[in-house]
Amino acid sequence: MNVTFLNGQKLENRNIISVFNPSFLYGINCFEGIRGYYSSKKDEIMIFDLEEHIDRLYESAARLEFNIPVEKKRLLDEIKDIIKTTIFKVDIYIRVTFFLSGESSWSEKEDISYLINMRPMPSQLFNETHISLTYSNFRRISSKIIPPDVKAGANYLNSRYALLDAQKKGFQGALFLSIENMISESTGSCIFFFKDDKFYTPSTDSDILIGITRNRIIKIIIALGYECIQKKIAKNEVQNFDAAFLVGTMIEIKKISIIEKQVFDINNPVINKVIDKFKSYVYGLDI
Ligand code: PMP
Repeated sequence: MNVTFLNGQKLENRNIISVFNPSFLYGINCFEGIRGYYSSKKDEIMIFDLEEHIDRLYESAARLEFNIPVEKKRLLDEIKDIIKTTIFKVDIYIRVTFFLSGESSWSEKEDISYLINMRPMPSQLFNETHISLTYSNFRRISSKIIPPDVKAGANYLNSRYALLDAQKKGFQGALFLSIENMISESTGSCIFFFKDDKFYTPSTDSDILIGITRNRIIKIIIALGYECIQKKIAKNEVQNFDAAFLVGTMIEIKKISIIEKQVFDINNPVINKVIDKFKSYVYGLDI
């Protein structure tokens, strides 16, 4: 049930990239990772905010000046069609990638291909675990250096350095500060804090990837009647918060137990409400 399509054609052989391919050599691509949740009630795979993901993919491609290889509507139809014809009754991960096709240079704009891969990936939403974070010694890439709001493959070098460093220090994840010393995000997820019935998350000018999950969580918080403040958050403000969690496609929603020495509440009932609402949303039951 692991299927791959290149430019609309099913791929039987995965060895299609030349060793001189510039996307391979330099990480020049943009992509989306999207979860699909199998709802037994509806007997259907609910794709999480598909249109929002595909909109971000096209924005990333435009920022990289890629000649977009497929119309948005056709891509959306293709994704839905692949699910309908090849994937059954499981949670899945869909990866859609735009990349430089041939053996040209890293500045190529025209010769772009698109790849769709789908494979089973069970949701971890019902396995409650927590995560420990450390402030990374690496700063988040800045919009003045490499725009962090473009979801490009090469951006993950920044995440890799930070995550491996955090793991060496004995933590499960890393929290980035921006070059302005503001709280930014984790290596593959956005952060939310909670205090006195209010939620806080770094604003979009905090050198973050503007997460599709982040945006959905903000809507859920508001729908539940709570305030969500988006602002630049200084590191020394974090000591005021009682609870915190990460959100993103891979991690879904995960409570933070500690950031270095600061311990957070992992039994906060308001956060539990947000998590419950998120669970019903992803299975198409609510909101
Ligand atoms: N920040 C970074 C750096 C990421 O790589 C991701 C994962 N795409 C996110 C945040 C979360 O974004 P999303 O909710 O769209 O997966």
